[in-house]
Amino acid sequence: MLINANEEIVKLRLPELLKEYDCCKCETCVSDMMAIALNNIKPAYVNTEEGMLFKRINSMLPQKNTDIEIEILRAINLVSGHPKHEERFEKKEA
Ligand SMILES: [Zn+2]
Repeated sequence: MLINANEEIVKLRLPELLKEYDCCKCETCVSDMMAIALNNIKPAYVNTEEGMLFKRINSMLPQKNTDIEIEILRAINLVSGHPKHEERFEKKEA
């Protein structure tokens, strides 16, 4: 099974980091944050069996975590400053 370990880390860390933020956490915003963060983080593909996935991720966390968290926090700030869900509402009203 080929997976992007960094993507798994973002999926795990984004909800945790979001708890500390008083911003919109709707599906649109969280998906946007995920997309922006992942576009800015180099993928780290690993070939792993399903059961080994979290062991691999945990072993990657100490050195990778800081860079990834910086990108996640940047994405949270970007999206919460310009949430797309609002644009959608505006279009509906127009
Ligand atoms: Zn939202």
